[in-house]
Amino acid sequence: NTFAEIDLGDLLNQNIRRCKYVKPTPIQRHAIPIALAGRDLMACAQTGSGKTAAFCFPIISGIMREQYVQRPCVARTVYPLALILSPTRELSCQIHDEAKKFSYQTGVKVVVAYGGAPINQQLRELDRGVDILVATPGRLVDLLERARLSLQMIRYLALDEADRMLDMGFEPQIRKIVEQMDMPNRGVRQTMLFSATFPREIQRLASDFLSNYIFLAV
Ligand code: AMP
Repeated sequence: NTFAEIDLGDLLNQNIRRCKYVKPTPIQRHAIPIALAGRDLMACAQTGSGKTAAFCFPIISGIMREQYVQRPCVARTVYPLALILSPTRELSCQIHDEAKKFSYQTGVKVVVAYGGAPINQQLRELDRGVDILVATPGRLVDLLERARLSLQMIRYLALDEADRMLDMGFEPQIRKIVEQMDMPNRGVRQTMLFSATFPREIQRLASDFLSNYIFLAV
């Protein structure tokens, strides 16, 4: 019933303590071990349940092991290893802030990109290197169309508030994004889908994007 009992490593555990998290919330207690075991996951999670840490901890832990993998070297193109999609600028910034705290001193680089803001500053940020990209779907498609970003090295994909993303009409963008990581990368990617509700459209996304997944309702 403590984070130390979950195998996240010393550095991540230090950061968790620094954030004053003492006890995992129910979603964290169940989702983190499943994700650390490499399984795809669809989880029922409301705001305030601690879902951000539930997908960030396993991603950061995985990236800490994988951040030195050889990435293609193509001028002006960056290759993140993890992607977190979220519906709004506010939520993306919140996730970015938390993920940065969790990855303090790990060498894992987290960058955020959202619409409604000048793209140039986000491009400059990306150019400095990125392991984990937090993004809204529209802005991400924009970045992909500029060929400044490639998703072919993505190992971890988290879809946060998936039902809200669909309500906002982002399904075509999400499908376009996931298609780009499927082509060279099938079978390598671990995917986690978080949603408060499970209408048919979400179930369809899950069966299209996740493989052999565990459904978690806490
Ligand atoms: P979330 O549902 O991820 O938006 O988290 C809601 C709030 O709870 C955020 O302010 C988190 O920093 C905080 N939080 C998440 N997990 C824990 C935990 N295990 N212990 C204490 N606070 C937490």
